[in-house]
Amino acid sequence: VDAVPAGVIAPSAHPPFDVNGVRRDFPILAERVNGRPLIWLDNAATTQKPQVVIDRLAHFYAHENSNIHRAAHALAARATDAYEKARRTVARFLGAGSVDEIVFVRGATEAINLVAKSWGWQHVGEGDEIVVSQLEHHANIVPWQQLAAARGATLRVIPVDDSGQILLGEYRRLLNGRTRLVAVTQVSNALGTITPVAEIVELAHRAGARVLVDGAQAVSHLRVDVKALDADFYVFSGHKVFAPTGIGVVYGKAEVLEDMPPWQGGGNMIRDVTFERTLYQPPPGRFEAGTGNIADAVGLGAALDYLERLGLENVARYEHELLEYATDGLRRVPGLRLIGTAQDKTSVLSFVLDGYRPEEVGSELNREGIAVRAGHHCAQPILRRFGLEATVRPSLAFYNTCEEVDTLLRVLRRLAR
Ligand code: PLP
Repeated sequence: VDAVPAGVIAPSAHPPFDVNGVRRDFPILAERVNGRPLIWLDNAATTQKPQVVIDRLAHFYAHENSNIHRAAHALAARATDAYEKARRTVARFLGAGSVDEIVFVRGATEAINLVAKSWGWQHVGEGDEIVVSQLEHHANIVPWQQLAAARGATLRVIPVDDSGQILLGEYRRLLNGRTRLVAVTQVSNALGTITPVAEIVELAHRAGARVLVDGAQAVSHLRVDVKALDADFYVFSGHKVFAPTGIGVVYGKAEVLEDMPPWQGGGNMIRDVTFERTLYQPPPGRFEAGTGNIADAVGLGAALDYLERLGLENVARYEHELLEYATDGLRRVPGLRLIGTAQDKTSVLSFVLDGYRPEEVGSELNREGIAVRAGHHCAQPILRRFGLEATVRPSLAFYNTCEEVDTLLRVLRRLAR
């Protein structure tokens, strides 16, 4: 049935999202690739940066650049103020109770490794269990596997149903008195599934376990409130939320961070050093050894301010319409099989096309200026759950349009013929 005609999004009660205005904020969207306008549908891998973020980085290096916290001079004060302001912005964005609950790291991968190396070594021992889901990115599998191997603990895996949604009943059965940690993604990078994290956290706490939520794919699509969620740790990467690469965040509950040992030693994280012993800073300083990524933290603050101005609710609504439009179109491409059909999804689409390897589809799309990821998306276990080694993955952001989706569909229909 033709539910929605091509190029048109179904009417809605809300004022239309000004996608053309928003597109002008992102200079890269005017690029041409292979003689065609760039169509960036690889947002789950990384997002593009608005001019305000690019300008903020340039301003930092032109007017504020210094190392932070140490020197008593004007630029050190400017750089420190800008860095700490970014921390306040992140705290507000996540709904954290205090700025001291925000630790800057390089990205979600480093964030999870920090928790594994510090909290994990402290709390996970022989015979203990760590629970992850089948949907996880390798970044939320490998550090726990390494920890489990080093400590004699066991990794348990929550399976998913045929739509790619977590089976809560199976999860309940996995929890027991030996469960120390549940590490689960809020949104699957490979399928787009939004997992029931609130229930997952509640059940874990009832079993006496802590919870780490991997928010890498969630923060650009959904309003996050770590206090309401009651997550013990929440991690994400700046580059997936319109900020620069090389900056990310660990949110940790104050009482949890305060008890954790540092994971790296060096400058900045100390209160006093003698050759006999070192006294450490309280969090978050304790976890930020050495010179961090000051400028990109400031850029992250600018990106989150930008997103707040757009309004996450407006973004989520528009992206949902775009997702429905794209899903409907993909379903009608002959020989195309969509993977990940959960009711709750963000705008990530994963598919395979009869007669083509995913990499071939990716190359054909690239020829038309369309950027998608084709491969295992650093989430091999979930693709293997569906009997696959790779998929094609267009992932949409609020600056994508129905017309871009139409171009994608046109190329896919041509290939399918
Ligand atoms: N977790 C999820 C769900 C992701 O999608 C990614 C990146 O794709 C990561 C973790 C790792 O993020 P990064 O590579 O920025 O450290």
